[in-house]
Amino acid sequence: MADQKAFRASILHCLGNPGDHDDPAQVEYFADGLLLVEDGHVAALGETQNMLPGLSADTELTDYTGNLIVPGFIDCHVHFSQVDIIGSYGEQLLDWLERYAYPAEEAFAEAEHADAVAEFFVDELLRNGTTTALVFPTVHPQSVDAIFKAADKRGMRLLSGKVLMDENCPQALRDDAESAYTQSLQLLEKWHGRNRLRYAITPRFAVTSSEAQLKAAGKLAAEFPDVHVHTHLAEHLDEVDLIAKKFPWSRSYLDVYEQTGLVRERSVFAHCLHLDDTDRQRMAELGAAIAFCPTSNLFLGSGLFDLRSARDRGIRVGVGTDVGGGTSLNMLRTLSEAYKVLHLQGQSMPGFKALYLATLGAANALYLDDRIGNFLTGKEADFVVLNYDASSIAKRRLKRTRDIAEKLFALVTLGDDRSISAVHLLGERARSGHQSTSI
Ligand SMILES: [Zn+2]
Repeated sequence: MADQKAFRASILHCLGNPGDHDDPAQVEYFADGLLLVEDGHVAALGETQNMLPGLSADTELTDYTGNLIVPGFIDCHVHFSQVDIIGSYGEQLLDWLERYAYPAEEAFAEAEHADAVAEFFVDELLRNGTTTALVFPTVHPQSVDAIFKAADKRGMRLLSGKVLMDENCPQALRDDAESAYTQSLQLLEKWHGRNRLRYAITPRFAVTSSEAQLKAAGKLAAEFPDVHVHTHLAEHLDEVDLIAKKFPWSRSYLDVYEQTGLVRERSVFAHCLHLDDTDRQRMAELGAAIAFCPTSNLFLGSGLFDLRSARDRGIRVGVGTDVGGGTSLNMLRTLSEAYKVLHLQGQSMPGFKALYLATLGAANALYLDDRIGNFLTGKEADFVVLNYDASSIAKRRLKRTRDIAEKLFALVTLGDDRSISAVHLLGERARSGHQSTSI
């Protein structure tokens, strides 16, 4: 007998990319909707009045009337090892790494520390409505075990993999080309495909990997085309200059990754602020994706991401919080900053497009849109219940909105973790790993 659950609320999801003008044909909205979930997957979606009479007597009905259900948020780039240094003052990328990030990451040599931070981090993601994330751990294999264990315990979809770095970083954080390959392979075989987990081959960036190590990572990427590749690209101009000197044979920073076999489908590159049109064309042709990380780009003073040029070329783009260079794990706050980054460049991001970037667009960037990202029948029922009354000013403003597009944009602009009423994974209410309390 199938386990059936029904959820009543206003329900909104994307069917495609709503673009710069909130194309209403690309979203589906039910003011009084019902989401029917069977064995953790979407079974049906529609108007409550049409669906209620057909529900079987043993279907468990949860009434979230007054709230808005949207698909779970997808964070395309975040570092769990950096939660303890979020909001560290005053540096730009390369100095910030030396001063704050690397010392914090050294502590993950202790498995107990890695486990404790992973538990906290995954609870925080869920508490903020993020149900899928592509996560950087550290160079230590135990940090990979820690993050996968924490996600698996909660039934969360998560992608991660050992960080690879063998030069230009503290000795304590170095592996080498051979151990990068063998340890990644061991972890991949241990975790990839277990429940909702997927492996990502994760060279930190070309600054901290030798050419031999990048090639070893590329070899593994060719051997396992269904695993992801996750790294950073062209975040800061000083970094781009360093790469040009370090790899004098390269046409561009992207070219370093391309020549070492790391640009392909399921490759996700964080930032991509300083690309040229040839880079964009290659990324589109090869099926690679970009994680747009607005709070991090502003906080570290790195620059403004040109979303329009990426989309015009047909590159897949999702949004990343990039904590701890980023300043919040909350996707609403991140989208609000994305709006400002785009607005400064004369580009637009109305509410439906914001939702797309954090749900279906992100699922598309991760090649997971056959499983998550919206509420089409058969997809995994990960969703967030948003409330309109999270703060007195949000409550006041949202009462004065005329339609769902205006409501959603105001919610994105004013929302934060208080806007998340509940989070469901495969239809089940997400629970904290520490207590039996709901998230
Ligand atoms: Zn990052």
